[in-house]
Amino acid sequence: MLNRAKCKRCSDILEIKEGELVYCSCGEIVLNGIDKRVVCNTSVTNYVEVDELGNEIVLDISSPKPDRKALLEMLDEMVKKIEEMPSHVMQAPVNHYDFASALLLISTILKNFD
Ligand SMILES: [Zn+2]
Repeated sequence: MLNRAKCKRCSDILEIKEGELVYCSCGEIVLNGIDKRVVCNTSVTNYVEVDELGNEIVLDISSPKPDRKALLEMLDEMVKKIEEMPSHVMQAPVNHYDFASALLLISTILKNFD
């Protein structure tokens, strides 16, 4: 959750305040305490999240490769979601994007059979 952000232009460190808008001195970034997000005037690259000491928080967005069990669970979940659809949706045609997505998932699962 976003708590603090540092403006790269003016170096102000802003702390989120519940229900308030907090602006940096140059006006580039605004911390929105209502929905807890940062708004940038010109570019999202103009701020970094920082901890309580002002150190930049680097987010690790890499995720481990899902294993065969996790992929099969995804496939089962897809089937379950489809089965829960109302009948008028069940009778709607499937397009090639849907078909390609399903084939891609099956292909990925089969490639993980070692
Ligand atoms: Zn600023």
